[in-house]
Amino acid sequence: MLRTEPSFVVEDLTLYKPSKAPQEEIPEKRDDLQCPLDKDELGRKTWSFLHTMAAYYPEKPSLYQENDVKQFFSTFSRLLKVSPPATKSQEELSQWLCKIHNSVNERLGKSLFDCSRVNERWRDGWKDGSCDY
Ligand SMILES: Cc1cc2nc3c(=O)[nH]c(=O)nc-3n(C[C@H](O)[C@H](O)[C@H](O)COP(=O)(O)OP(=O)(O)OC[C@H]3O[C@@H](n4cnc5c(N)ncnc54)[C@H](O)[C@@H]3O)c2cc1C
Repeated sequence: MLRTEPSFVVEDLTLYKPSKAPQEEIPEKRDDLQCPLDKDELGRKTWSFLHTMAAYYPEKPSLYQENDVKQFFSTFSRLLKVSPPATKSQEELSQWLCKIHNSVNERLGKSLFDCSRVNERWRDGWKDGSCDY
């Protein structure tokens, strides 16, 4: 039976350490301490990896590259049963992933990301030049 809700293998993120409660003190440079990841850190780093992979996917992938990326996402996500990855180009894959991420954002009550800016965020840097130095 098809599921109506997005359902990721990584849903099991709930099994990971819960995020720090807001009242707890978090060292400013937690990354420097090399601690185990909490749920939000793992989520952010996983999204960074996935979006960066999509950002550098070829404009014209070979059949092998398409198969590799399909296989990767098939293993990664059961959501693909209802939304298979669009793998014909960098633009297609990045837009598909942006929509997947937005469906998680929506489920978690977070604001939606403007997918027309996904390459600015993950490949080219913001048009205002703020990432250029
Ligand atoms: C597959 C998956 C499933 C998850 N499921 C859960 C869950 O069930 N429950 C749970 O509590 N957490 C889940 N998470 C973690 C959650 O999505 C967030 O990573 C976490 O809550 C931290 O959120 P954040 O606000 O720092 O930004 P994140 O959502 O981690 O996003 C990181 C950065 O990506 C950019 N961004 C945001 N939306 C988009 C988009 N649509 N396209 C491109 N870039 C974007 C923004 O610049 C943002 O700062 C999941 C993560 C993944 C990878």
